[in-house]
Amino acid sequence: MSNKPIYDKVILKVSGEALAGDKNFGIDEKTLIGIAKEIKEVSALGVKVGIVVGGGNFWRGRTNQQMDRATADYIGMLATMMNSLALQDAIEGLGLKTRVHSAVEMMEIAEPYVRRRAINQLEKGYIVIFGAGTGSPFFSTDTAAALKAAEMDADLILLAKKIDAVYSKDPELHSDAVKYTSLTHGDVLEKNLGVMDSTAASLCRDNGIKIHVFSIREKGNVMKAVCGENIGTLIT
Ligand code: UDP
Repeated sequence: MSNKPIYDKVILKVSGEALAGDKNFGIDEKTLIGIAKEIKEVSALGVKVGIVVGGGNFWRGRTNQQMDRATADYIGMLATMMNSLALQDAIEGLGLKTRVHSAVEMMEIAEPYVRRRAINQLEKGYIVIFGAGTGSPFFSTDTAAALKAAEMDADLILLAKKIDAVYSKDPELHSDAVKYTSLTHGDVLEKNLGVMDSTAASLCRDNGIKIHVFSIREKGNVMKAVCGENIGTLIT
């Protein structure tokens, strides 16, 4: 069957955890290259791809008990930059053009985020990676993905995770957990489903941003998702 994308522009949110592969920490190079290959495949079909990367494979601000929260969050933002540079390297290694925009200025390694420039780069077929989240503590990279989807006028967020869909409760802990194939933003917020934090979920709801949650661990899923196959949970 030939692959026919139904979306023109997407924001792929890759959690930091997903980059760690089977390890619990850091970057698994095989996983990293696998993800880069999937991005290349959909980009080759003309889909414009913006990427927001998490940092949970290195650091999460909120799990730190002792440190000042804002400082802990800045460390988290730096973690997302490490992942952004690693992804950039892997994607460029496959011959694609990329740009990393950072929400926190670090001119030597990434360009500062400029919306119109990012839109132009996407139009030219570059893979644009948005690092450092929103640039503000107390937020998450899911919120950054929601913002970037709105600012880039993307068709939807591809929420690539280690888990394959949204469940009523953690399926690893509860055998009776129900898997959802479709949900509304309202469901996510009211049932407190933990797909994304409530700030990100309400931003998506208020701006009508669709989200497709799926597992990045299965090869070919990014292609399936851009071709409109529901391989996880569709939130509309
Ligand atoms: N972070 C932040 N502001 C943002 C995005 C991220 O302060 O706009 C920090 C926060 O500490 C967060 C960490 O960066 O815990 C890593 O991001 P996130 O937890 O969203 O990564 P993921 O869980 O998707 O790997």
